[in-house]
Amino acid sequence: MTNKDKLKISEEAKNFLESEHLLFIDGEWKQSSSGEKIPVFDPATEEKIAEVQSGTTKDIDLAVNAAREALSGEWANIPSHDRAQILHRLSDEIEANFSVLSELEVLDNGMPLELAQYSIASHGVTLLRYYASWAPKIHGKTIPVSPGGAMNGESLTYTKREPIGVVGAIIPWNSPLIFAILKLAPALAAGCTVVLKPAELTPLTALYFGHLIEKSGIPKGVVNIVTGLGETAGDALAKHNDVDKITFTGSTEVGKKIVSSSINNLKKVTLELGGKSPVIVFDDADLEKTIPGVARACFFLQGQNCMAGTRVFVHEDIHDELVAGVKSMAESFQIGHGLIQTNDFGPLISGDQRKRVMKYIKQGISEGATLVCGGNEVNDRGYFIEPTIFTDVTGEMSIAKEEIFGPVLCIEKFSNESLEEIAKRANKTTYGLSGSVWTNDISTGHKMAALIDSGQVSINCHAAVDSAIPFGGNKQSGWGREFGEEGLDSYLKTKATTVMY
Ligand code: NAD
Repeated sequence: MTNKDKLKISEEAKNFLESEHLLFIDGEWKQSSSGEKIPVFDPATEEKIAEVQSGTTKDIDLAVNAAREALSGEWANIPSHDRAQILHRLSDEIEANFSVLSELEVLDNGMPLELAQYSIASHGVTLLRYYASWAPKIHGKTIPVSPGGAMNGESLTYTKREPIGVVGAIIPWNSPLIFAILKLAPALAAGCTVVLKPAELTPLTALYFGHLIEKSGIPKGVVNIVTGLGETAGDALAKHNDVDKITFTGSTEVGKKIVSSSINNLKKVTLELGGKSPVIVFDDADLEKTIPGVARACFFLQGQNCMAGTRVFVHEDIHDELVAGVKSMAESFQIGHGLIQTNDFGPLISGDQRKRVMKYIKQGISEGATLVCGGNEVNDRGYFIEPTIFTDVTGEMSIAKEEIFGPVLCIEKFSNESLEEIAKRANKTTYGLSGSVWTNDISTGHKMAALIDSGQVSINCHAAVDSAIPFGGNKQSGWGREFGEEGLDSYLKTKATTVMY
């Protein structure tokens, strides 16, 4: 009996896994031009569950050509209200296929089922509906000026908001379906066409989503999905001279490559990159809420989360109580396969990722941090690691500076330093994505939030994400913002027209 049987996977999910996974180009499902395949593994069992096409430069070319054609075809003439209806239909399709999508997300990525269900419902469906409702509200302005002065007579200037064009969307493995939707929803609302390159480690829900796109009535060529490796398919997309914009979510290292790949045709680039976010806990914080909040901030998605609050700065008076509370929560997580409902802590994405995290844990110990709990690999099968906490961490240690992207929490103390001094320590990182402040003093909360150099700060919660809240990074955590009106804006360009009369 295979794990697939033991885990009671639905017939629908099994059938999908066993089907042939192809590239979605110009409304058709195709083999890759190379004929090569990439195996896909369940990270909780290490079992191969599918294989997908390894897209090539030639496949990317076909997909970009299809997207270019579609940009000026039927899609361009669909009224914005109807574009909104199409996005609502796509959202209905996700709701109708909610349970198989959730199952596939768990099998592909390893996240606990409850989290997959939550993220698909409250981010996937909601994001599509949110951006659907923006589609008919995209408009320009009239500008009351007379260029060149009154001598030239009367004039009218107006602006139009136009789709930016063909979008290349490159996404990571940590929340695969949500990132696909986060790119597609605003791009389609704006009237763009898209070539999506899912992460090679987690391509399955994007491919399933491709079938829902087909059903939703989106014209052919508007959305194309090319699975493949980053250094081949991803690189070809980033370098393609007929792509107008790249929207990329992934590591800072690859983000920098995307920037240099985009130079040739100066395509527009949005980057959502890594993080090393601070969590600042004052001595008046409500520990009943703060302890679970701090534990979730780091250990959510096994720490494979760009917004993870991995660097805690806590006032010395409550340090021991906070550490004991977070340790007890960390030790209470049920580690195991995400499809078993009682498990709330899954595996890391791959053997390589586990090796990388274990290397950091060893480094933390050798650099002199105190290991409070965790630090070990778990289970014979699957890439599991225990939730790990270090205290006595200093800002110079590599575990405090570098993005580990695993369940490793680093705790530092502060005493009676000023808010500015605490902020200096919290901001001593090349990243600037998220952060949180925990206090019962609202004035301390706002002052501290203002001093943290990141795109998002939460007070008495961590990583507040909503379709309407702009999200993105400062410093090396990225360029631009996603979600909300700003997220839509990045898929539009402004044209100013002046008429003299
Ligand atoms: P990654 O950068 O290795 O890969 C991301 C995507 O880029 C994948 O699809 C990959 O195939 C592709 N890619 C790799 N090399 C490429 C190249 N040379 N040219 C073009 N594309 C290439 O990231 P990952 O390991 O999949 O994800 C983890 C990283 O993503 C972490 O650093 C995390 O912080 C970051 N992340 C950021 C956010 C955010 O919103 N800021 C969200 C999630 C993840």
